[in-house]
Amino acid sequence: MTTTAPSPVALTSRFATELPELALAWQAEEAPDPQLLALNRPLAGELGLDADWLQSAEGVRFLVGNAVPDGAHPVAQCYAGHQFGGYAPRLGDGRALLLGEIDALGGRDLHLKGSGRTPFARGGDGLAVVGPMLREYVVSEAMHALGIPTTRSLAVVATGRRVQRETALPGAVLARIASSHLRVGSFQYAAATGDVDLLDRLTRHAIARHYPEAAQAPNPALALYEAVVAAQASLVAKWMLVGFVHGVMNTDNVTISGETIDYGPCAFLDAFDPATTFSSIDQGGRYSYGNQPVVLEWDLARLGEALLPLVHDDQEEAVSQVTEALGAFRREYSAAWSVGLRAKLGLAGSRDGAEPVVEDLLGLLQRDHPDFTSFFRALADAADGDAAPARDLVLDRDGFDRWLARWQSLEPDSGLMRRTNPVVIPRNHLVEEALSAATAGDLDPFGRLLDAVSRPFEARPGFGRYAEPAPESFGAYTTYCGT
Ligand code: AMP
Ligand code: MG
Repeated sequence: MTTTAPSPVALTSRFATELPELALAWQAEEAPDPQLLALNRPLAGELGLDADWLQSAEGVRFLVGNAVPDGAHPVAQCYAGHQFGGYAPRLGDGRALLLGEIDALGGRDLHLKGSGRTPFARGGDGLAVVGPMLREYVVSEAMHALGIPTTRSLAVVATGRRVQRETALPGAVLARIASSHLRVGSFQYAAATGDVDLLDRLTRHAIARHYPEAAQAPNPALALYEAVVAAQASLVAKWMLVGFVHGVMNTDNVTISGETIDYGPCAFLDAFDPATTFSSIDQGGRYSYGNQPVVLEWDLARLGEALLPLVHDDQEEAVSQVTEALGAFRREYSAAWSVGLRAKLGLAGSRDGAEPVVEDLLGLLQRDHPDFTSFFRALADAADGDAAPARDLVLDRDGFDRWLARWQSLEPDSGLMRRTNPVVIPRNHLVEEALSAATAGDLDPFGRLLDAVSRPFEARPGFGRYAEPAPESFGAYTTYCGT
């Protein structure tokens, strides 16, 4: 039974109070035998939460939504979204709850995923299982360690319930921390109601939480839009620079804050290939690695459409202003990508002759498909005079040697390269290994992987296998949504 009790955690309900039309009061399903599998003690500390209490029986009940702090009002959030290009007018949290906001780090949502069916569940069972929730935990923490804006993972708790997937699997709830769960789909939903007051309140709420300077702009809604475009252009450039494939960039999975959200079918590139997709349902490659910037621009156009009534009373004028604001996306993305790629190559600042060298490297990557992460890291050694490891990763050795001489003449900064190019990413084969073991009850491989990805730029003794590409025998990798 869900109980309310005095609790060391104070939660506010700003979203639920300011935007009741987007918030449906709801309770988590009872977890029969909750057991803590992972707790992010450093994050708990940053949030001012008592990690020892979170580990206690009452703390664990709190982490699955069964012990609701006095004064908290858990809600399922309502939103719409374009899924693979098709509009779904009413998605919402089918298996998640916003428990409330924590007044730390400038305000953070505490959200539960896998907490049971809600009225938005449609055909789904409202549940989640251990493997995918630990997957979100380890990949989101890896992204954070890589310096990429992301939601964070506070805890994963096994519920003690069996959940039917292809086989019966152990159920779990993920406690997720985000600067908010506002998404493009939230604005699409508000706009579709035709209630301009709701859209206006949502806009003010988003501005206050994420872009307070926009409140002072002559046109706050347009300023919000410009800020989201800039944040998302920067975000997707960071994904591209580290070889991250999100996998399901539907408009309900694109945040207003500019944080990466929803680690369902995501995965990192091994071999460089722009056409790479991992998701079982992405047959057309809509969300392939190379398509991510273009599809994000498409998603941001949907946000622009939703904001039109607030941008200007005259629709034509509104469309023209939003179109111009969206035009910044390509410039901002290209600039962030170029600066980032030069840093990956140790070429900070402006250097004469760098541009064609960078361009030609991209050509080499396209032709030879080296392991993306290993190759850039090996180039740091090449900058220090040992080119053999990088050379071993390409097919056209003569072409590589010619390129290398030109690049070395630019005097690349190997220190910058080692701060920019990770040694360790959550490699698909290692993630699978850790999750299979965890599902069978052995959390050790998960713990070691988490440790490895938490310090991604350090080549640490004993962590060699976390830097290696997948063995040939691992084969093609497929990921799944909504697991
Ligand atoms: P996602 O692609 O994971 O962001 O999910 C898209 C939509 O499907 C959201 O509205 C989710 O709440 C919902 N959903 C995903 N899995 C389930 C599930 N097992 N039960 C109920 N709803 C789900
Ligand atoms: Mg989602």
